[in-house]
Amino acid sequence: MDTRRRFRDLAELDAHLIDCRACPRLVEWREQVAREKRRAFSDQEYWGRPVPGLGPADARLLIVGLAPAAHGGNRTGRMFTGDQSGDFLFSAMYLAGLVSQPHSAAMDDGLELFGTRITAPVHCAPPQNKPTVEERDRCSYWLHGELELLSPTVRSVITLGVFGWQSALRTFGALGWTVPRPAPKFGHGASTILTRGDATLEVFGCYHVSQHNTFTGRLTVDMLVEVLQRAAKSAGIALGQ
Ligand code: SF4
Repeated sequence: MDTRRRFRDLAELDAHLIDCRACPRLVEWREQVAREKRRAFSDQEYWGRPVPGLGPADARLLIVGLAPAAHGGNRTGRMFTGDQSGDFLFSAMYLAGLVSQPHSAAMDDGLELFGTRITAPVHCAPPQNKPTVEERDRCSYWLHGELELLSPTVRSVITLGVFGWQSALRTFGALGWTVPRPAPKFGHGASTILTRGDATLEVFGCYHVSQHNTFTGRLTVDMLVEVLQRAAKSAGIALGQ
């Protein structure tokens, strides 16, 4: 797949992505959620489409999650925006000096990311937050294109959960990055180095910011800030902007 020939830049990729209807189950679900809505958001118009990556096109640090939340990104149209998982992530990113504000409520809230982009291996909200293998593989078309366009600048990656870890390693491998063998195992705080020519890329594992992890204390803000700081340092991002 030569996505570079097709997409000049991330803006063009994102413009095509938001019209994707390749996964019938996910299209039906994202649109059903957008029609039926949660009572607290009944006066809002849901996005109900694929949610593109968020952050600058020349990011040095990339965060790879899982998929948009039904009433979060699928409502607001922006990754990790408008739900408690996003609040947790952005509060930690703010403490690490990677975003301009500690919360993210809507597309027009003024949030700015510093040298960091956030994306997901699956761009449509799945039922129970569980995409199928086929859906993941279909959506890898977009991840492949995004990672290739980011490859000239990105130097470290944080994967939120094993799904993001495996998707990122598989996709970078397909793009010609050398992934250690046997494949490195996911763990919170684990890291591995990929190489392509003279370039190196450090991939970090971090527990996902799902409420299952944050409400139980499995992942604390301090734990997340520590991984963010390690990854930012590896990417050469000057913190405290
Ligand atoms: S999950 Fe990805 S491939 Fe499937 S419809 Fe959404 S954007 Fe398209």
